[in-house]
Amino acid sequence: MKTIVNPAEVHSLVRQWRQAKKSIGFVPTMGALHEGHMELVRASRRQNHVSVVSIYVNPLQFGPHEDFSQYPRTMEKDLELLRREKVQLVYAPTNLEMYPKVFSTEIKVGGPVVKGLCAPFRPGHFNGVATVVAKLLGAVQPNRLYLGQKDAQQVAVLKRVVQDLNMDVTPVVCPIVREHDGLAMSSRNQRLTLEGRKIAPVLFRALKVGKSIVDLGEAVPEKVLEEIRKVITEERKIKLQYLEAVDAETLEPSKKIGSGTMIALAAYLDNVRLIDNIVL
Ligand code: AMP
Repeated sequence: MKTIVNPAEVHSLVRQWRQAKKSIGFVPTMGALHEGHMELVRASRRQNHVSVVSIYVNPLQFGPHEDFSQYPRTMEKDLELLRREKVQLVYAPTNLEMYPKVFSTEIKVGGPVVKGLCAPFRPGHFNGVATVVAKLLGAVQPNRLYLGQKDAQQVAVLKRVVQDLNMDVTPVVCPIVREHDGLAMSSRNQRLTLEGRKIAPVLFRALKVGKSIVDLGEAVPEKVLEEIRKVITEERKIKLQYLEAVDAETLEPSKKIGSGTMIALAAYLDNVRLIDNIVL
């Protein structure tokens, strides 16, 4: 496994792979790797000749009051995990490599994919994500791009970017990997207190309550969301930021809940922002 910090070196390796007609799978991450990331890596390993994983905590996608400085960084452990999965290349650029002094291009995403959910609460976030992923795709030029359903809005945004900018890459979306108690795995979970960690699985439990109500025939979004909200607000330490029912593809608000609806939420617990979703 090679670790490279500079895009020109990535280009020269990628050129060799392309000449040898090898398909390239790419998994962008911010490190602090867990099983959620590793499932993306394994999917890429299964479906491509070579796999590239990037590790980069992208300052552009964090707001001024967000957790950029507290975001967990565990590079040595991450490299060991990726070595075990036999990844061919880790691209771990420095901030200066990614955003040199002279840098003036940013991607701006508009439309329904950035109307609701996280977007109003994280201004600039998805532009930062789109910009960094476009840069990473420019360096790695993969055939397939592996993304997790955990960050459903990020998936919708990046699918738009790929289509709108005619990028020759196929997004592959992998299911949410959860802890044994249902909590969606996240690098941020390690910042929860012991008590918070015990409370956090209520988010998925509440989403499942919503699903069971839909399974019983309820299709009015407000009614389903109200029942989910009730379960969550029983936990006083959790501050729900949003809870929405949207079309899983377009992210437009659902007028009726049914197959193809995604119920998504964000909540604060111990000052840690958690997100989760369920697609019906
Ligand atoms: P991050 O390091 O948080 O930027 O995540 C990198 C990639 O891993 C993104 O495509 C995420 O959606 C994906 N990912 C993170 N957590 C999970 C999870 N629990 N299950 C599936 N994919 C995940």
